[in-house]
Amino acid sequence: MNTPAPWEKLLDGRFDSKHPRRTLWGLFSDQRGRVAAAVALYIIKQSPGSLLPLAVGMIVDALTNGGDGAFHKILWIAGIYFLLLLQNPFVHTAFVRLMSGSLRQMQFNLRSALVERLQQLSITFFEEKQSSALQTKILRDVDAIDGLCRHLLNTGLNGLLVITYVTIIALVKQPLLALYFLVTVPAGVALLKLFDRRFKEQYKAMRVETEQMNARVGEMLQMLPVTRAHGLEDYEARDVRSVFSRIRKRGMEVDTLTEFFASSSWFTFMLFQLACLVFSAWLVVQHRISVGDAVMYHTYFGMLIGAVQQFLSVFPALAQGADAIRSLGEVLEAEHVERNDGKPSAPVPLRGEIFFENVTFNYPRGREVALKEISLNIKAGETIAFVGESGAGKSTLVNLAIGFRQPTTGKILLDGRDLREIDLRTYRRQIGVVPQTTLLFNGTLRENVTYGLEKISDDALWKILADANLAEFVRALPKGFDTPLGESGTQLSGGQRQRLAIARALVRDPRLVILDEATSALDTESERLVQEALVRLTKNRTTLIVAHRFSTIRHAHRIVVLLQGRIVEQGTQAELMQRGGHFFRLATLQMVGAEK
Ligand code: ADP
Repeated sequence: MNTPAPWEKLLDGRFDSKHPRRTLWGLFSDQRGRVAAAVALYIIKQSPGSLLPLAVGMIVDALTNGGDGAFHKILWIAGIYFLLLLQNPFVHTAFVRLMSGSLRQMQFNLRSALVERLQQLSITFFEEKQSSALQTKILRDVDAIDGLCRHLLNTGLNGLLVITYVTIIALVKQPLLALYFLVTVPAGVALLKLFDRRFKEQYKAMRVETEQMNARVGEMLQMLPVTRAHGLEDYEARDVRSVFSRIRKRGMEVDTLTEFFASSSWFTFMLFQLACLVFSAWLVVQHRISVGDAVMYHTYFGMLIGAVQQFLSVFPALAQGADAIRSLGEVLEAEHVERNDGKPSAPVPLRGEIFFENVTFNYPRGREVALKEISLNIKAGETIAFVGESGAGKSTLVNLAIGFRQPTTGKILLDGRDLREIDLRTYRRQIGVVPQTTLLFNGTLRENVTYGLEKISDDALWKILADANLAEFVRALPKGFDTPLGESGTQLSGGQRQRLAIARALVRDPRLVILDEATSALDTESERLVQEALVRLTKNRTTLIVAHRFSTIRHAHRIVVLLQGRIVEQGTQAELMQRGGHFFRLATLQMVGAEK
């Protein structure tokens, strides 16, 4: 076995959104050394800042004590301090390189893990999640985690450093003051406890609202042509605005809470500082400490307060980060993973024989059983058309055949082997799917046709385009098959899109074709071109068609009529018409062609 890539480790249980802190640490598991080195460099680079009050205190004491050696002593202190300063630019740069390297690597790992998991999840998962919400996770939530880590490293580390320095110096020089210092930390923690739950609630609500906003905006863009066509611009804009206004309200609440927390802690700590000033002055008056010590304590105390405050400011960010981790957990810990690893490959090449054995299927959230006791033997090379009213179960049946869903009871045999027991990826590589709507991506026509396949020669491609009745159209394009299609391929007509989908299936030379026929009507000439291409695509290949058009049904060897999840009739078109049953009624009512 190869050693797993760092992001693959995130997919087998290391990502645990119930324990965000542990998970966060786990994100850096492959670069602990780098992080430790970054922390060490941080301590060194910060030393001029951390030791300044000590130096100032010593200088003040040298001055107040006076004497001949005073200035000489000050020069010594300044010299050492200069050396401390000198290292800073170099060490700082090295620190940033290490820190940034490990953070960028963490982002890379997280995003790679998300993409890997999204590619493994079963189709059911995507029915429940909107794609823009998923996109938010990959972009925004990963950024939020990155932000948190930067915050933790910069602020948290600085806070920790100052607290440690201050405590050590105070303990060595004046235990009484140390005690006083130690009061501030518990005060901070107490303050935090007061706010903690509200922070968590607010950040979660904010994230959900943001996801909803993204989803709504994505939907609006998708619906734009429909909205405009119905003159519903105002309605749609108002509706989207209401989502924005929820974000505005929530954002205000989050900002207010964060700032109220910040100013409460500022107020509390300033009171402490005032008290510290009075206390150290009293110690000087009592001759318990020198003036230099008092100056030093006071500056350190100021720094300490700043550090505790900074430290506290990590917690809102931590709540936000924990929420982002929970959000990513929805993908990384999702259970609907299609388990293919370790299963034997499908036969290559497939014969293309599919048997449904007493298959029943109900959707997890479905009210009724979608398919009931379906038994059907589809022979290699046979073309079967499934017809029935909308909701009869045609798409469900075809999705079961692709392995997108598993039968609730019964089984599906592919060339004699249970579909559950084979690596579905090896099976799907041998099928050509022509969906109802042709999805195109931003690339050339060639890339869209050969999607995912590399070595297709120009000649082979022209042959395929000819079979799909697209060659003439492509030849007339200014750049031939290198013409860019744009994201949604708007310059293609409905018929051309369908033929492009057919070409995409043909390129794969599949053993099995699954076709969900488009319902939109085409003009006679377009229809003829599509039908011809379909005949070439399905020839000598097992074909399952969710059929809506008579012209398609006519080519089928067998028609299977579904009614409320059951097979009620099957046979050739002539047989079924003669029988005068359900198919006959559908045909005469022209429902087969007009449904949906
Ligand atoms: P057809 O393709 O013939 O129109 P479908 O296979 O889409 O029919 O649907 C069959 C039945 O399953 C219908 O009652 C439909 O409401 C239900 N159904 C389809 N998809 C889902 C789903 N994702 N969740 C719950 N029920 C579903």
